[in-house]
Amino acid sequence: MADILEFRPRKPRRLGLCQYGHHAWQISKDRRFDVKSGKLVTHFRCTRCGTTKVEGT
Ligand SMILES: [Zn+2]
Repeated sequence: MADILEFRPRKPRRLGLCQYGHHAWQISKDRRFDVKSGKLVTHFRCTRCGTTKVEGT
């Protein structure tokens, strides 16, 4: 009777090169000092899939 709305798993959109590991990195935060690693790190965010990464110097 009642329609059951299935929660579809979040299918990844066409990520283009992202699926091959080629992300469109964009610096999301300014460089800052990472206390854990004890060095300056830069935060990146992929504009396509939203993956984030932190890169040290
Ligand atoms: Zn990506």
